[in-house]
Amino acid sequence: MIKKFIRRILGTKQKTGDHTQPVILTAKEHGIDPKLVSSNAIRVTSSLQDAGFKAFLVGGAVRDLLLGVKPKDFDIATNATPEQVKRLFRRAFIIGKRFQIVHVMFGQDLLEVTTFRGSSSDGAPKDEHGRVLRDNTFGEQHEDALRRDFTINAMYYDPASQIVLDYHGGIADIRNKTLRIIGVPEERYREDPVRLLRVVRFAARLNFTIAPDTRAPIAVMAPLINNVPAARVFDEMLKLLMSGHALACLQQLRKEGLHHGLLPLLDVVLEQPLGEKFVRLALASTDERVREGKPVSPGFLFASLLWHQVVEKWNAYQAAGEYPIPALHLAADDVLNTQTDKLALQRKIASDMRDIWAMQPRFDRRVGKTPYKLLEHLRLRAGYDFLLLRCASGEIDSEIGEWWTAFIAGDGAEREELLTKKPVATNEGPAKKRPRRRRKPATAAVGKPE
Ligand code: ATP
Ligand code: MG
Repeated sequence: MIKKFIRRILGTKQKTGDHTQPVILTAKEHGIDPKLVSSNAIRVTSSLQDAGFKAFLVGGAVRDLLLGVKPKDFDIATNATPEQVKRLFRRAFIIGKRFQIVHVMFGQDLLEVTTFRGSSSDGAPKDEHGRVLRDNTFGEQHEDALRRDFTINAMYYDPASQIVLDYHGGIADIRNKTLRIIGVPEERYREDPVRLLRVVRFAARLNFTIAPDTRAPIAVMAPLINNVPAARVFDEMLKLLMSGHALACLQQLRKEGLHHGLLPLLDVVLEQPLGEKFVRLALASTDERVREGKPVSPGFLFASLLWHQVVEKWNAYQAAGEYPIPALHLAADDVLNTQTDKLALQRKIASDMRDIWAMQPRFDRRVGKTPYKLLEHLRLRAGYDFLLLRCASGEIDSEIGEWWTAFIAGDGAEREELLTKKPVATNEGPAKKRPRRRRKPATAAVGKPE
């Protein structure tokens, strides 16, 4: 009944290969649990519909609903222009250059509302490699669907009528667990090379198979990522690392040949045997935190990913005669400078990373007042968690981590007792392969409690 009615409104039935008419699925057919939809998302779609516009949930939210997962955010697609959307809500802001979108806020909750995009980006300004620079042409819903990246991300759900509109066989691909790009893969990657990273993220996170023709051009086209602005690559990398499946994503990146040459960060992370265990542990603990809904700090994440690169340089500077502490700062500078250029590490993140690294040798000083000073450090928790990862990966003796665990938890007397106990082993750098330090005059604060 309802299908017939909707078809009457939308036009004729979908024929095979015709992507202008959607396949329509009713609640009984798609099985979405309406309780998984946020009330604010419904507020937005119904306000738009009450004002006479079309409005649907779209993209990742519909995909997750179909998979029975509660979406972490809700994107909304409409035929209202950004100005028309803005007028309907008290706290709504038009943002974005490349694509204009409206942010609608309810308290802390943010909903992204996008106007249906026009089908053709032919007239849009592009760079010399074919990457679309700006495009704000609006269009019909079927054109909007064509512009989306994957079939499973191109479905629309109306919470009021509870129907799903599927223009590109997304439902079938959800059921077959297949990730398939819409259109000609080479063209779609060229238009926006970030899609190469998105393939990997979704395949790893959803545990879907990449369709053969979606997969085939990835390795060849990988270098195109180099001409994407660093800030966009960084955003996508952050999504990947904070997806709760970071480890799986990085393994998939390696499998697809996407880590090589294009992101210096990944070259380092994945091809360094010394650091592999450390990175694996760091990502596993990040994934666990994300899945438990705990906050994850990008600074900690990137500090972990790049730690062994820092260690390598730290050793080299010490071998060249630097004292440990200045050597560590020089190593941190080197690593941060290289990565900031390529990856647009934001200043705040870079400064968090430096803090975490710089704290590490301070954990070695377990005499006098020094450990008490460290307890007051604003980033103690992050530095300490980092220390524990170093212990767990075998980089340093686990005794030091246990000592700090006891010291942090201890009361006054217990702390004093710990301070009088002579530490069994101390570590200032990696336990293995530590170069012989050229001793400088005794005035230097080498900082080893011996
Ligand atoms: P997540 O659950 O990680 O947020 P998502 O699918 O919602 O996944 P977003 O980055 O939030 O991903 O994008 C929302 C939707 O916008 C996508 O589902 C897709 O339809 C469309 N989209 C996003 N980025 C692109 C892109 N680079 N090219 C084409 N379509 C895109
Ligand atoms: Mg999303």
